[in-house]
Amino acid sequence: MAETFSLIIHGGSASYDLNDPVEAANHKEQEQALARIIESGWKRLARGDRSIDVVEYVINLLEETPCFNSGIGAAIGAERQIELDASIMVGDTLQCGAAAGIRGVPHAISVARAIMEKTMHVMLVGDGLDNFISALGFERLRDEEFYTAYQQRLWNMYQELDTVPAHGGKGTVGAVARDSKGSISAGTSTGGMTMKMRGRVGDSPLIGAGTYADSRYGGVSCTGYGEQIIKIGMARTAIHLVKDGYTSQEACDQCIDELGQLKQGLGGMIAIDATGRVGACGNERFLPVAFMTSQQVEPVVEFDISSLKRSLKAKR
Ligand code: ASP
Repeated sequence: MAETFSLIIHGGSASYDLNDPVEAANHKEQEQALARIIESGWKRLARGDRSIDVVEYVINLLEETPCFNSGIGAAIGAERQIELDASIMVGDTLQCGAAAGIRGVPHAISVARAIMEKTMHVMLVGDGLDNFISALGFERLRDEEFYTAYQQRLWNMYQELDTVPAHGGKGTVGAVARDSKGSISAGTSTGGMTMKMRGRVGDSPLIGAGTYADSRYGGVSCTGYGEQIIKIGMARTAIHLVKDGYTSQEACDQCIDELGQLKQGLGGMIAIDATGRVGACGNERFLPVAFMTSQQVEPVVEFDISSLKRSLKAKR
């Protein structure tokens, strides 16, 4: 049988009330965007592009789409700051790049990739990151240019509540791809949590927590309450489970089960294993996911966690 190549993308673990017209409208926009972006990404993978290029490409598209919490539309921090986190990994070589607290650059995943390819380091933060970004000549926006009405409203709501919810971030994005040569890459990009402290870093830019790829076993991108995901090193834990013989789906199920045992352990993840099988799991009501494999005739796009589980089961 021909090698399976696959692409799976997510738009962040979340719980919200669809009776709220603003949430319902955002949900609709996300659904349309995922359907469009999986198609565009698939065209690239199907014509033979490398998994790393497809992962960066689809995440760039998600970052440009304001209904997601990444790039434009990122979550607004307590001081109304925009600080983006991202990481990317190539499973063939374990080469990876990451950045936390990125200011002014919507394509955070491309900053992570540039760190991977143009420096001898894995991760940059602070002034050094800023200087690196300037030297590369990335376009820089002001924080206000990232604000959307949706994120402003969320910020106002939390401000009035005078409390920061455990998982106050919805719409982080991520992607995992396995190309026709068997190379697996993964990436994650986020604005983090609404009302986060300046300087707060979640799981998304941490290799092993938010993102991991090893082409011998699989690739993973996580979403959810970063403070808890970090504690169980969720992305690499999943890859270890695959190494131990579990499928990508079983590995996701076990990781989310472990996450759920922690206080406010809310989140989700997507994965592809070395045979190209996709997996995903989450413990909030929504995990927007789209996936396509060379065994399918058309992409699957799901939002609701129970429909997602049904679709994944049907494809096994
Ligand atoms: N994991 C992200 C963070 O903690 C947020 C999310 O995925 O919703 O920054």
